[in-house]
Order: sequence, then C-alpha cells, then structure tokens
Amino acid sequence: MGFILNLSQNTDKYAADRFHMVQYQLVNRGIHDEGVLKAMSEIPRHLFVPELYRHAAYDDCPLPIGEGQTISQPYMVAIMTQCLELKGDEKVLEIGTGSGYQAAILGRLASHIYTIERHSALASRAKTILKQAGYDNIDVIVGDGSLGLPDKAPFHGIIVTACAPHAPKSLLDQLEIGGRLILPIGNPYHQILHQMVNQEKRVEDRNILECAFVPLIGEEGWNEE
Ligand code: SAM
Repeated sequence: MGFILNLSQNTDKYAADRFHMVQYQLVNRGIHDEGVLKAMSEIPRHLFVPELYRHAAYDDCPLPIGEGQTISQPYMVAIMTQCLELKGDEKVLEIGTGSGYQAAILGRLASHIYTIERHSALASRAKTILKQAGYDNIDVIVGDGSLGLPDKAPFHGIIVTACAPHAPKSLLDQLEIGGRLILPIGNPYHQILHQMVNQEKRVEDRNILECAFVPLIGEEGWNEE
C-alpha cells in the first residue's frame, strides 16, 4: 500500500541517500525488523519534508515541518515502529501526524492507521501527500490525540510522537489485551521512550532509550503555555 504507483521522478535522485540512511543509521544501530527496514528503504521520506530541507531529508536528525514542529529522526521512527511488533493485520493509532511520514511507514506494516494531529495545516498537508502516494488505509484526523480515539478503539498499537508528562489514561484504556503503547515521557530536559504492554490486570512498562520530542499538548498532555 502506498507508493506502489506514480513515484516522482525525483525519487531516484535520493535512492543512495535512502540506502545509506537504512544501512548506517538503522541496521548499524540494531534495527532488525525486516518490515521496518524494507518500508524505510522504499518510502520516499523527502516527499514529506518541506522543499527548503529536502536536501537533508535522509540526514540523521529531525527537521522542521512548519508550525514549530518536526519530522522525527529516521532512527526514532524505526525504533518506535519496531517496538509495535506489527504482523500486518493490526489497527494502529498514531498521535502527532506531523509530516505524515511515520503514518506512511505504519500504513505499509499494519492494516489500518488512524493518525491525529492538532495543527490543521499539518494534517491537511499530510493528508494530501498520503493520498497522492496512493494510501487508502490511513485516516488523518484533526484533534487532541491525548484523548485517543474512543470510537475506533481498541487498538493493537498506539504510538505517540510527542512527549507526554505521563502515560495518558485514555490511551491505556484504548489498548486491546496484549496491545502496545509506545511513547516518550518526560519534560523538555529529560525524556525516555517507553514501551507499555496491556497485560489485562497490569501494564508492563519497559524503558527503551533517551529521546527528545516536542511536547504533547492537550487535555492529558501539557498545557499550551
Ligand atoms: N510523526 C510525525 C512525522 O512523521 O512527521 C512527527 C511528529 S512531531 C515530532 C509531533 C507532532 O505531534 C506535531 O506535529 C504536533 O503538532 C503533534 N501534537 C502535539 N500534541 C498533540 C495532540 N494532543 N494531539 C495531536 N497531535 C499533537
């Protein structure tokens, strides 16, 4: 799904950059999920990056996408996706659509993706790119993702691409049994990426690594000020 048709002719120009990104930033740092590596080898990340920064689309860093937000570093996209351990038939919720790149990776690896973005301009841009790329299994929604999407719950996986002060109860409540919540928790100075698994009567919580994300702003996140 996605990017099966109509690849832009610019795509080949970036093929070597994409290959190096996968080899040196992902494989060499221990990303081993074949599906994640294949998706990131094939999906043209540069199409999700504003023109001004396109030359740096495969660099080992986040990049500005407007509204004071960023497209995450490729390694962070890879490790968060790998932590979901997708098999292909799952329903996944992403909080923080941003550029739409993470949603595009998820759209290749799971059956349906719901992705929520609080900035309507970013949501609208991501929606256009994902549509042009041929995805028909990704719904982009404008709203406060800290509350999740109760109408479509439960989810096998929920991935939050902005930093929360704590795991939002709404998101934990929307996980199926065995479902995973992947999210950064912390403050602007210190954040840890967590993998939380709903084990029915308890939540198994594993620390993955230190990270740096923009804040999750919302009812179960940070205040806008
Ligand atoms: N996943 C994105 C990508 O692939 O480009 C990167 C996302 S960026 C690091 C984090 C995003 O989370 C921003 O676009 C920000 O506006 C959004 N965000 C922050 N709080 C949110 C909330 N409560 N609901 C939905 N989106 C939120």
